[in-house]
Amino acid sequence: MSLLDTLRQQDSLFLPAIPQKPQGRYVHFVLLRETESFPLFQTDGSLNVIRVRAGHQAEHRETISRLVIFKRKQTSPERLTGRELLRSYGIITDAEKQPNTCVYNSADFCKQCPDCILYGYAIGSSGAEKSKVQVDSSFSITRYEASHKAFSFNALHEHGTMTDKGETRSSFGEQDHVTPQVFFPSIVTLRDPTYAGFLYVLGNLLRTDHYGAQETRTGKVYNHLLAITWGNGEIFSNLRYTQVIYDTLVERQQYREQEPLDPQDVQLAALSGYRLLIDEEPVVRAAEFLMPELDELRREVIAIYSDAEQTRAVLNELNTTAQEYAKKYGAKK
Ligand SMILES: [Zn+2]
Repeated sequence: MSLLDTLRQQDSLFLPAIPQKPQGRYVHFVLLRETESFPLFQTDGSLNVIRVRAGHQAEHRETISRLVIFKRKQTSPERLTGRELLRSYGIITDAEKQPNTCVYNSADFCKQCPDCILYGYAIGSSGAEKSKVQVDSSFSITRYEASHKAFSFNALHEHGTMTDKGETRSSFGEQDHVTPQVFFPSIVTLRDPTYAGFLYVLGNLLRTDHYGAQETRTGKVYNHLLAITWGNGEIFSNLRYTQVIYDTLVERQQYREQEPLDPQDVQLAALSGYRLLIDEEPVVRAAEFLMPELDELRREVIAIYSDAEQTRAVLNELNTTAQEYAKKYGAKK
């Protein structure tokens, strides 16, 4: 029997249906998001930056500037990845006046598909559904000064060259980009998970590889999955987690600013940081998987999404739970 099959049979991990009232059941996906090209996490043309304390320990009390990925810059791409899959299996459509029409970020959110029910929606006065997927802003481990680079870009004429009527344009403007191998620890939480909902949210985390401003195609980000924890409460914040990882890297003399951090160093520091912080949480853990043991589970999920029929089965089950919820409690009741 596969590990997923074993987990699925445990009532302490999954609910049979999406409940209306919070049941105090949480599954936390602990991620390390690593940039693999030059994403833009920005508002109004400048990268999002905030000054915070460097580490958690007293000897690292100095403040530094860190890059920030706001909540929506994390969830929107993951939602869109999921919606693309729902669309390709015919569960939602963009075509007008179909029973399963669902248009993202519009008054035509359908209020009953897995995306609407799990990730939520708000349509003015005509209804809202609270997101069951929670994520907070995440922060770069390294300071802003060591994590970005300004590139000048050339403004091309419409026909795609720098030259028009014999005059060559010089470069215009400069834009700050996040550099590759910058790390953002991030915890994504699903409340009151069903088995299919768990697979859907986890699938979106594993299948999304592009974040940040959509007009660029340079926003590659890899989500390292470090831990999955089922518990009866919320756990520590991304900022606290980032500060503890910073402490660990400095202690191990692996923190450096002239060169990118080593991905393996960061993963190991993040795993020990997780263990340190989770033991401080007044939360009952129903189950917990950490890398490298977690890899078996991760591979099983990847196997499902590599197979069209298994994917279809998961999405159909997911859709049934969403429709049932919408009928019972949703705006469509
Ligand atoms: Zn929908």
